[in-house]
Amino acid sequence: MVLAQLGGSISRALHQMSNATVIDEKVLNDCLNEITRALLQADVQFKLVRDMQTNIKKIVNLDDLAAGHNKRKIIQQAIFNELCKILDPGKPAFTLKKGKPSVVMFVGLQGSGKTTTCTKYAYYHQKKGWKPALVCADTFRAGAFDQLKQNATKAKIPFYGSYTESDPVRIAVEGVERFKKENCDLIIVDTSGRHKQEAALFEEMRQVSEATKPDLVIFVMDSSIGQAAFDQAQAFKQSVAVGAVIVTKMDGHAKGGGALSAVAATKSPVIFIGTGEHMDEFEVFDVKPFVSRLLGMGDWSGFMDKIHEVVPMDQQPELLQKLSEGTFTLRIMYEQFHHILKMGPIGQVFSMLPGFGQELMPQGREKESQAKIKRYMTMMDSMTNEELDSSNPKLMNESRIMRIARGCGRPVRDVVDMLEEYKRLAKVWGKMKGLKIPKKGEMSALSRNMNA
Ligand code: GDP
Repeated sequence: MVLAQLGGSISRALHQMSNATVIDEKVLNDCLNEITRALLQADVQFKLVRDMQTNIKKIVNLDDLAAGHNKRKIIQQAIFNELCKILDPGKPAFTLKKGKPSVVMFVGLQGSGKTTTCTKYAYYHQKKGWKPALVCADTFRAGAFDQLKQNATKAKIPFYGSYTESDPVRIAVEGVERFKKENCDLIIVDTSGRHKQEAALFEEMRQVSEATKPDLVIFVMDSSIGQAAFDQAQAFKQSVAVGAVIVTKMDGHAKGGGALSAVAATKSPVIFIGTGEHMDEFEVFDVKPFVSRLLGMGDWSGFMDKIHEVVPMDQQPELLQKLSEGTFTLRIMYEQFHHILKMGPIGQVFSMLPGFGQELMPQGREKESQAKIKRYMTMMDSMTNEELDSSNPKLMNESRIMRIARGCGRPVRDVVDMLEEYKRLAKVWGKMKGLKIPKKGEMSALSRNMNA
C-alpha cells in the first residue's frame, strides 16, 4: 500500500522508543528525529514536518509529565493525533441529499484517475440507491468521452457528452439540464485534466464551475504525486472551491508523502480512496482508522465492515462474540484465513487486521503470503476438533505436532511455525476481550476504543 514504507518507519521508531528502559529527552528526540527523517524521505512537505515536530514537543513536555504517567502512550497518541491533523481539516465535506438534484464537479491533473473515479463514485452511490448520471465535459483529451461512455455503460449509468462540440461549458450545461429534467439526484461532471497546472485549464474549470454551479467540487489526486503536490493542490483550491478530495492509486507502492501534503494544502477532507482499476475498488476514507492502519495498529472499523460484507450473516454474531470474549482458537484462525482468502485484494484486508499486516504478509510478497496461508490451512485440516477448539497452548505437545506433520505431509518445523503464528495472533486478538460487539454503523466507536 502507498505510504507503507512511511508507516513502517514510524512504527519502528515508536517500537524502539518502547524498548528503552527510561523515556528521557534523548530517547524522545531520537524517536522524533527518526520520524522526521521518515516523513521527509516520503516527500512530506518540510513545513508540515517541522510543525508536526514542534507540536509534539509542546504536547509531550517530559518535565511536566509526572512519574507514573504513561509517557509512551502520551507520545504515541501525540504522533497519532499530529498525523491525523495533516489529513483532517476539521470539517466534514458538504453532505449531498438523496432525492434532491446535486451537481458534483470533478477536477484534477490528467492521468490522476479522474474519469475512472467519476464512474466509481457514481457506481458507489448507485448501489446505495441514488440515481447518478455522468457528464463528460473533457473536450481536451481525445478519447475521454469514449472512456466515460464505456465505463458508464458497464455500470448502467446514464451519460452525456459529444464527439463534435468543443466547448466544455456548453456540454456541461446541457448535460446538467438534461439530467435534472430526468430527475437524477447526482449529476457528475468530469472536466478536462492537463499534464501540469496551466492557466487555460484553470480558466476552463472556473467557467464550467460558474455555469453549472456545483454543490461540491472534488479534487482527484494521484497518491504518487511527489514534491510538487502541495503547490499544485493549492493552485486548484485557489481557482475553484474544492470541497473534498479523492486520492487514487492507493494500491500502488508510492512514497505517498506528497499526497499527504497536498491534502493538507486543500484544507478539504479526503472522502474516498481508489484502491485499484476496477469499479468497486473504492473505499470510504476515515482519517483515524487510516492512520491506525498506517502505524500498524490495524483498522478495526474497516475490518468490521469487511466482516459484515463477507462473513455470512448467520456466522457474524458467533464470530464477534468469540472475539469479544478474547477466545482465539485455532478454529477461529482457520475461519479467518478462509474469509481472508475470499475477501479479495488480500493486501488491503490484511493491512486492516491488527497483527496480520507486515508481520504475516510483507509488502510486495502477497503471493507467497497467500501460499503460506493455504499451507497453514492444510496443516489445520489434519487437526482434531479438540485441538482446533482448545485455547490451551499446552495441549499441542510433541506427539500431536508429529501426528499433524505426518497427516499433512509437511515437515514438523512447518507445523511449529504455524503454531507460533497462532500464538502471536492470539496475543494481538486477545486485545478484543471485553469489547462491545458493534452492529453495522457503530464501527467508528469500536475503532476509537481500539486506538485509545
Ligand atoms: P484521468 O486522465 O485523470 O481521467 O485518468 P484516468 O481515469 O484515465 O486514469 C488513468 C489511469 O489510472 C488508468 O489506467 C486507470 O485505470 C488508472 N487508475 C485510476 N484509479 C486507479 C486506482 O485507484 N488504482 C490503480 N491501480 N489505477 C487507477
